[in-house]
Amino acid sequence: MSLLGSSAFGRSSAQTDATGAAAAARTAQTDTRALEARLDRALLACEAMWMLLRKKLELTDEELADQITELDLSDGVLDGKVRKTAVTCSKCKRKVAPRFDKCMYCQTPTPLNPFA
Ligand SMILES: [Zn+2]
Repeated sequence: MSLLGSSAFGRSSAQTDATGAAAAARTAQTDTRALEARLDRALLACEAMWMLLRKKLELTDEELADQITELDLSDGVLDGKVRKTAVTCSKCKRKVAPRFDKCMYCQTPTPLNPFA
């Protein structure tokens, strides 16, 4: 081992850490770009659906804005998002987190919520 802490393979632990950090940063950047691309597609589909609904059902942008506000407020907080609350199991009556598709206590399937 040298004064700089080189290993038997000629690389210091700091170099190994830096290489690992750079690789992790590249992976995070790639993951972020993939998420941005998925978000762009989802927003495009959402806007296209809204355009279709507006045209076919003669809805207005104001009605959409009102509906967004109503949905946002459904969890009690106007913050641009909806927090899903726990559901009650139909069989054992225990609370089940909305991300689970069945009760963790008795395995009873929870009602399907496509937006949970
Ligand atoms: Zn249950």
